[in-house]
Amino acid sequence: MRMPRRTKILATLGPATDRPEALDAVLAAGVDVVRINLSHGDLEDHRRRVEAVRSWAERQGRRIGVLVDLQGPKIRIERFREGPVYLAPGDRFTLDPEVDPDGGDRSRVGVAYKDLPRDLAPGDELLLDDGRLVVRVVQIEGTAVHTEVQVGGGLSDRKGINRRGGGLSAPALTDKDRADIVTAAELCADYVAVSFPRCADDIHEARRLLADAGGHAGIVAKIERAEALEAAEGIIDAAEAIMVARGDLGVEIGDAALPEVQKQLIQTARARNRVVITATQMMESMIENPIPTRAEVFDVANAVRDGTDAVMLSAETATGAYPAEVVGAMDRVCRAAERSRTVTVSHHRLDEQFRRVDETIAMAAMYAANHFHIKALIAITESGGTASWMSRISSGLPIYVLTRHSETRGRVTLYRGVYPLEFDPEQEDLTALKGRLLSRLSAQGLVCRGDHVVVTHGEELGAAGGTNTLRIVCVDDYLDQ
Ligand code: PGA
Ligand code: MN
Repeated sequence: MRMPRRTKILATLGPATDRPEALDAVLAAGVDVVRINLSHGDLEDHRRRVEAVRSWAERQGRRIGVLVDLQGPKIRIERFREGPVYLAPGDRFTLDPEVDPDGGDRSRVGVAYKDLPRDLAPGDELLLDDGRLVVRVVQIEGTAVHTEVQVGGGLSDRKGINRRGGGLSAPALTDKDRADIVTAAELCADYVAVSFPRCADDIHEARRLLADAGGHAGIVAKIERAEALEAAEGIIDAAEAIMVARGDLGVEIGDAALPEVQKQLIQTARARNRVVITATQMMESMIENPIPTRAEVFDVANAVRDGTDAVMLSAETATGAYPAEVVGAMDRVCRAAERSRTVTVSHHRLDEQFRRVDETIAMAAMYAANHFHIKALIAITESGGTASWMSRISSGLPIYVLTRHSETRGRVTLYRGVYPLEFDPEQEDLTALKGRLLSRLSAQGLVCRGDHVVVTHGEELGAAGGTNTLRIVCVDDYLDQ
């Protein structure tokens, strides 16, 4: 069997994956986690998609993670009475929350966000439709924001509005998001993504609502506002994972700033023991074409070299013409990039003190594995904490997670180089457990006779955070029993 790919693929579900054959082909092409995007579609569609994914995964004996992405307070214009309008440079155009939502025309349009006039001042630049149009605020008169068009173009219903430099103060969790968090808990989501958080408190609040609803998901903070970058460390610490949300972030801070920001966010997330997803337009041209552009190949490979845990597909799989092909292309590019020495050698935290015993074992295990002929690491764990520390360290070695907790198996689907295995450690003693595991990995061709593997576990099975043991074992010793 081929060694598993390390970088995880996160694919958004949508109409293009709804046909049963399409979904099977997309998942089989190598999806690790699916994204349910609550900005589109109705709840019944989403429920049905999650069920279809879980039943496919069960038939394959695999675990596929489910990430529920909240819509958040995306600020949009309302609708035009007679279809799209064309705005030319120099035109006057007014945005006004008091305008009839269906009554927009060439001179003015409604806005769903009531506080817009209060957040703006003359001289501000607004980017409409992901920055395709630019207008400058000239005057604010009551609720009316009068602007002059700088960059013109066609404008249609419900397009997004961003302020250059950020600063629109809408709270991160809308009433719809609060209701959707309850749905995410019902769906047993492995991750819930918070859109447009401004600070760590937005993440804490989502976590509280999720806990109240009985959910166990990890929280993903989408970094997509200029303010979030300033508060990045606090937000990263408050969440289990972050998403470099290049779509909205690029509109706010300018596209040219994105590559450096991506590298820094990935590095900071990893150094703080957090997971990171790189998202948006990774293979955009494959919405319409069966192969990626060279630039897209480089983008995916560069994200792998930057150290991302996962790469994300949005419209490419949700509405594109080649949903399975794009997953196949990403798989191919990630695997090739993972052969680079820059992603298998680590200088991670070499000069740091560690704070916990399980953390220290995880670090020692990776150091040993990277410097001895080790074939794989096996973390017998409750919470998956050991595996998360291990996977922050660059290495070419697979980390198998053995846990009786379904939640932990779901959580680790997003971790780079980490693969969940089903087993119930309570039923057997450790030696029997290792024997069964190694025979299974050997039957799959993932380890061979003569190979050494590192195993970590706690003295007592069943205690979270209790990992205190690191063993280097030879596969033969267990196969002969
Ligand atoms: P979205 O988030 O796809 O929900 O907008 C990602 C991004 O903004 O890049
Ligand atoms: Mn976004």
